[in-house]
Amino acid sequence: MDLIKAEIDISALRHNFRLARKLAGGKTLVCAVIKDNAYGHGLLPVAAVMADEGADFLAIADLSDAEKLRKAGFKLPLLNISGLLPSQASGAVSLNVSQSVSNADELLALDRAAGKQKKCALVHVEVDCGMGRLGVPAAEFSALFEKAKSLKNIFVEGIFTHFPSADTDLPVTRKQAGLFKETVRQCPANIIYHSANSAALINCPETRMDMVRPGLMLYGLYPSGTEKKIRLKPALSLNTSVIMVKKARKGDRVSYNGTYRAKKDTELAALPIGYGDGFSRLLSNAGEVIIKGKRYPVAGRVCMDLTMLDIGKNSGIKPGDEATLIGKNGGENITASEIALKCKTIPYEVVCGINKGIKRIYF
Ligand SMILES: *Cc1c(COP(=O)(O)O)cnc(C)c1O
Repeated sequence: MDLIKAEIDISALRHNFRLARKLAGGKTLVCAVIKDNAYGHGLLPVAAVMADEGADFLAIADLSDAEKLRKAGFKLPLLNISGLLPSQASGAVSLNVSQSVSNADELLALDRAAGKQKKCALVHVEVDCGMGRLGVPAAEFSALFEKAKSLKNIFVEGIFTHFPSADTDLPVTRKQAGLFKETVRQCPANIIYHSANSAALINCPETRMDMVRPGLMLYGLYPSGTEKKIRLKPALSLNTSVIMVKKARKGDRVSYNGTYRAKKDTELAALPIGYGDGFSRLLSNAGEVIIKGKRYPVAGRVCMDLTMLDIGKNSGIKPGDEATLIGKNGGENITASEIALKCKTIPYEVVCGINKGIKRIYF
C-alpha cells in the first residue's frame, strides 16, 4: 500500500563493508558506524548485515539504539560515540556498552553504576585533537587517563579521536593524527587506539591504527573527493509512483506561490512525496526525478506531501508509473550526493532525512 519505498540493497552493503575491511587491512578491527538509524538505512537490518560480515564493533550515538540492538540479540561490542549524562550511566553499564568519555564526571558516574551492578564499565577515552566537539582536550588527557586508571570499576578498552576534515584537508588530518599519537604515547599497548572515519580510512593510511570507524562509505556514499579512489555501491534507492497526470497551458503557474510558469503547453505529473518525507524543499525548481529512464525537473515548490514535475507533452507517463528520486532507473541515476549538492548540504543529511516512517525494503 505504501506509495513511497526506500529499497536497500544488502549486497551493496556487503560489498562496501568488504572494501572497508580490505582498506583497514591486517589485524585492524572494523567498527561499523550505524548511528541515526544506520544513516537512514534501518538500524537492525543493517546491524545484522554488518555482524554477518564480521564487524568487530558497532557504533551508535544514542543509548536507545543499544537497547534495541541488545533486545534483538546482538552480542557484538557496541561503542556509544555520544556523551553521557550521569542518569544514563547505569543503562550504559547494564547494556555492556563501551562508552566514550571526555571528562571525570562521566567516569565517576560509570564507576558508581558499575560498582552497584558488580561489573566493570568499558570506556573509550575520546581525545579532542582539533575536532572541537566531544573529547578531552589533548593537553588534559593524561590527568583524565590517570583518573580512569584510579577507578576500580572502570576498564579503559579504547582511546580515540575524531577528525574534522579528513575529506578536505589531509595535512591538517595528518597533524591531528600526529598529535593523537603523541598524546597517547605513554599509554599501554593493549588498548584499542582508533581515529579513522570513512574519509580518513580512504585518504590517510596512517590513521588506521587498531580500529577504524567507517560510516558513510558502508552505505555506498563517497566522502567528498574520494570518488576516484574507490568503487562503492550505493545501497539505498528511493522510489514512489506518479499519482496523477494533467495538462497545463503555456503561462500556467504551478504549486505554492506560483514560482513555476509553464513556458509552453505541457503536462504535469504529481508525486505523493514531499519535504515531510525527506524530499527537501530546497529541491523546489531545482531537483530532478527519473521516470522510465528519463529525468524530469521539479516544477515549483516541493510541498509537504506532494511534488510536481513538468513532464512535457507526449511523455507517455501515466498514474502508477515508478518515479525514482534516489537511485537508478533505466540508464539514469540520481545519487544522494547529487541531491546534497543542490541542497548545499552533505549526502549524510539526505539519507538521514528520509522519514523514519517510510517503509524500508531489503533485497
Ligand atoms: C559519524 C562518525 C563516524 C563515521 O564517520 P563517516 O564520515 O560516516 O565515516 C566515525 N566516528 C565518529 C566519532 C563519528 O561521529
